[in-house]
Amino acid sequence: MSIPVTLIPGDGIGPSITEATIRLLEAAGADIEWDRQLAGTAAVHAVNDPLPAATLESIRRTKVALKGPLETAVGKGFRSINVALRKAFDLYANVRPAKSVLPGLRFDGVDIVLVRENTEGLYIGVENYVKIGTDEHAAAQSVAVVTRFGAERIHRYAFEYAIAHGRKKVTIVHKANILKYSQGLFLEEGRRIAAEFAGRVQVEERIVDACAMELVMRPERYDVIVATNLFGDILSDLTSGLVGGLGLTPGANIGNDAAIFEAVHGTAPDIAGKGIANPTAVMLAACQMLDHLGQGTLAEQIKFAVEGVLRARQIVTGDLGGSATTEQYTDAVIARL
Ligand code: NAD
Repeated sequence: MSIPVTLIPGDGIGPSITEATIRLLEAAGADIEWDRQLAGTAAVHAVNDPLPAATLESIRRTKVALKGPLETAVGKGFRSINVALRKAFDLYANVRPAKSVLPGLRFDGVDIVLVRENTEGLYIGVENYVKIGTDEHAAAQSVAVVTRFGAERIHRYAFEYAIAHGRKKVTIVHKANILKYSQGLFLEEGRRIAAEFAGRVQVEERIVDACAMELVMRPERYDVIVATNLFGDILSDLTSGLVGGLGLTPGANIGNDAAIFEAVHGTAPDIAGKGIANPTAVMLAACQMLDHLGQGTLAEQIKFAVEGVLRARQIVTGDLGGSATTEQYTDAVIARL
């Protein structure tokens, strides 16, 4: 039976890289029934709403979406549609794998999965200015909230992910030496959950600044990393950089009732419509999606073909130093399946 999946092609290069990905999945034999829905600028043009109810309804039904990058319309509406989607479905775990595949980079042997808490921390949007005397903006404050509930579920997700994917170690990243309450609670919950997995997954703790340094000196020693929202945001771009940049990095946003898979890069307005965008990140996001849907073997086959083309580095797109179009690159990956 075909698996229903919501497809949001997105804006800018989104439609071309998602179409390339669908072509690859079909060639690989994935049996998916795509329910195409709009969001972002495409949706504003069509129905004057950046996040139409029909799109939310579709994700509620299928519980799984593959999404191209979205341009947040300047002016009115949501601050970010991506954040609105995360909130609507309580997508608490952001999972960003970064693996060395391209030859000739500064690092090789990197194979890190960063699990970022996606709903709490400093990103809850509770901020205000403090007026002193006549200065309305004399001070500003931002509130970071860590709950036991939120910390527990992200640590549990990271450890369960490690077991399910044959990973050996989870590194808990924190700043509990300074932020003793919010980061302290995150670490306390991490230690408690780690104890449940003792003997099955190794655990280590790293203060975020030391972790950042070690990631650019000895990245190969890291396996799974779990961090709060802000630290995870920063470190996940760092790990993307270690393996060749955002064009190669997929991201999964996972909740209990839905999951959304996407490339982490944006709509690339400078190259939109030229047929030269790199579809790798969406292709790898689709592999994460297949894995999530219990089709791990198919996901591995597709990933193997993508990695083969990248390793050869002959038919690659302009951002990777090649001259292939999106279509030529996709053909090369399909030929490797
Ligand atoms: P961007 O990622 O779109 O582009 C940065 C640079 O990387 C550009 O030079 C672009 O050409 C290049 N690039 C990005 N993806 C590429 C690909 N697949 N192949 C080849 N080159 C690629 O970042 P930006 O310019 O800061 O943002 C543009 C728009 O995207 C904004 O409206 C922003 O809000 C949106 N955005 C959306 C998401 C998302 O939906 N997940 C994420 C980031 C930015």
